[in-house]
Amino acid sequence: MDHCGECDFTYDPADASAAGPTIRDGVVEVVSVLRRRAGDDLRTRRRPGVWSPLEYACHLRDVLLVQRERVLAVRRTERPVFAPMGRDERVDHEGYAEQDLDDVLRQLGDAAGLFGNVLARLDPGDWDRDLVYPYPGPTTRTLAWMAVHTVHEVRHHLRDIRLQVEPAAG
Ligand SMILES: [Zn+2]
Repeated sequence: MDHCGECDFTYDPADASAAGPTIRDGVVEVVSVLRRRAGDDLRTRRRPGVWSPLEYACHLRDVLLVQRERVLAVRRTERPVFAPMGRDERVDHEGYAEQDLDDVLRQLGDAAGLFGNVLARLDPGDWDRDLVYPYPGPTTRTLAWMAVHTVHEVRHHLRDIRLQVEPAAG
């Protein structure tokens, strides 16, 4: 998984040190796209099996919160093995489609800030620390990879949201 053809994202570990600010900028964009469409129905799925814009926003918030905990675990543990976050189960367990848009957008901004803070506090040597990442299958990765992967999550889901609320954006 070095390149995502869907959103044209290339994994470059050199981008890790800028991941915090890049993610904050990406989340600002997600929030502004959804605010512009706040009068539309953002809860209902356009197609069965494809999350609604609100569900994507909830997912992104949870990704950032989970990744923050993982960064902290990597700092204090030798090669931690992470369990999957339960992305599909959370949709129902947290009731993504029933959440309040304003709450979710505020939480999304906070989650990006919380994640960026733990990245900003890393020592230079921390980026090479190992972990076992669960997705798509358990694989040993560095913290730098995980930071870049999180940038990809934001970019990819910004696209998922845009395709639904701004179909012309392609
Ligand atoms: Zn992608």
